[in-house]
Amino acid sequence: MHERLGQIRDEALHAVAVVADTRELGELKVRYLGKKSPITEVLGGMKDVPPAERPRIGEVANQVRDALALAIEQRGEALKQAELLTRLEGERLDVTLPGRRPAQTGSIHPLSRVMQEIVDVFGSLGFTVAEGPEIEKDFYNFEALNIPRNHPSRDMQDTFYISEDILLRTHTSPVQVRTMLQQRPPVRIIAPGKVYRCDSDITHTPMFHQVEGLLIDKKTTFAELKGVLEYFCQAMFGAKTAVRFRPSFFPFTEPSAEVDIECVMCRGKGCRVCKMTGWLEILGCGMVDPNVFGSVEYDPEVYQGFAFGMGVERITMLKYGINDLRLFFENDLSFLAQYR
Ligand SMILES: [Zn+2]
Repeated sequence: MHERLGQIRDEALHAVAVVADTRELGELKVRYLGKKSPITEVLGGMKDVPPAERPRIGEVANQVRDALALAIEQRGEALKQAELLTRLEGERLDVTLPGRRPAQTGSIHPLSRVMQEIVDVFGSLGFTVAEGPEIEKDFYNFEALNIPRNHPSRDMQDTFYISEDILLRTHTSPVQVRTMLQQRPPVRIIAPGKVYRCDSDITHTPMFHQVEGLLIDKKTTFAELKGVLEYFCQAMFGAKTAVRFRPSFFPFTEPSAEVDIECVMCRGKGCRVCKMTGWLEILGCGMVDPNVFGSVEYDPEVYQGFAFGMGVERITMLKYGINDLRLFFENDLSFLAQYR
């Protein structure tokens, strides 16, 4: 029996030494130290051993058990360490490897890009962005802007009417009216957005984008208007761009002016784009007509203001040398991808 226990010990120690992983080691532990282990089996034959020898056998069996338990524990620790190392090795990351690039990325539409640029330039001058609905009431779009019904200047704007009183806004000016009705001066806003006119040909689309601005305060002057717009033109088209103001007419401003910049294509020499004049018209502006103040209850004796407006499509075409308005709306990826 003594001998048999020695055999079991040697056999088990060998098995523990060559075991491949912690899972197999767990199985060995059950096999040699569990209830049905060979040691228990051997001890089952104890009744055949003379009583005087029994304690000695029990002692040896315990020694074998302890030796096995210790060997299994040590082997378990070693295996765990080895398995951890293997796992770490497998999960090792080379942080210096270049990242994976997405196969295709989108780009910002040139109109959105230029609109944002315009907002940024005026933002740097302290103007904040104001927004309003694209479906608008006749009052905000026309009447409050000194354009009553049957006024001839309504013919200048081919309006999409939804009903007699509801329309798609033809300019972003109603945002100015809404702002003036909501707050007292000083007002310093720009209103970027979509506008709609019933017009479609090579140089017109039924939907296009405008940015309008409005500044109202005590003692606002035309000189300030000139300063703001010159700064804007030079920020958009280069510091050396010449700017000129020409007298014009708009129903909601008096006096009114149109703003030209030196032709960006020929730098003033005269070309097809500027029709040989050397100048390009890009903005309309003027001092707010006191009649407009009447409809929003600002006192024209106390406050003066100026307003301006521009087409984002036109500015974008001039800035990027795009010669066909339709390119903006065709969703041609090869065109859009150039504006990454
Ligand atoms: Zn030119």
